[in-house]
Amino acid sequence: MVSTEYERRIAARFAGFDQDGNGYIDREDFNAAAKAVLAEFGTAARSDKGQALYIGAEGFWQGMAGIADRDGDQRITREEFVSGAVKRLRDNPERFAEIARPFLHAALAVADTDGDGTATLDETRRVITALGADEDTAAEAAAALDADTDGRIGETEVVAAFARYFTVPE
Ligand code: CA
Ligand code: CA
Repeated sequence: MVSTEYERRIAARFAGFDQDGNGYIDREDFNAAAKAVLAEFGTAARSDKGQALYIGAEGFWQGMAGIADRDGDQRITREEFVSGAVKRLRDNPERFAEIARPFLHAALAVADTDGDGTATLDETRRVITALGADEDTAAEAAAALDADTDGRIGETEVVAAFARYFTVPE
């Protein structure tokens, strides 16, 4: 089957959300993402940072469901993702940033082991790997995030890059 570059990119984004790979995106995928990031950094789910990450993941799921789960069955299928999420996120990347920000903020706080408000390249790479990317992709993505090459990655960079990644141009 020949697929366009656009379709390949959409498939990669869908797979990124479908953490358990069962073919649809639901709340469990967002919980799994939170759990994987906490495990990577040895952070307890019951800690403040752990709770913030789960709350951010739930808000992210609710926001995505509001955009894309058109039949209200609490699952976002590939078809709903393509026809709903991708189009609407492209039309309104600011809205997507708003939905994702609490989760990204909390993930950054987990990764920011010295508490200076930013993550190092290595910490960022570990988050991206925990979310299922292979090592090379994660290292490249971390480097690309560090636009000003100071070796530190802050919330603004993460949110902007995330919105950019998921708002796929046609
Ligand atoms: Ca899934
Ligand atoms: Ca649905």
